[in-house]
Amino acid sequence: MAERLALNHFETDEEHSHIEVDQERVRATGCGPTIVACCPARVYTAEPDGSLSVEYAACLECGTCLAVAAPGALRWHYPRGGFGVAFREG
Ligand code: SF4
Repeated sequence: MAERLALNHFETDEEHSHIEVDQERVRATGCGPTIVACCPARVYTAEPDGSLSVEYAACLECGTCLAVAAPGALRWHYPRGGFGVAFREG
């Protein structure tokens, strides 16, 4: 898996994250561990205070986190045009 992921190219939008976390909602619903566990790119890290940190530059745009998160916990949209992941086959 790691070898395949290494083939991808990322054009990072340094000025705008396409993922925003409603930290209060994550804490209130307890959905953080599920989000962390389901992300294949390990974009999310659970912090000791129950919040999530996000390294959006590695996002594969699969949408899994949005599907498993409690409603309203994440605001996720595709990166702006020209940014995001480009998949390459080995
Ligand atoms: S869209 Fe997929 S790769 Fe991107 S943060 Fe969500 S689960 Fe991770």
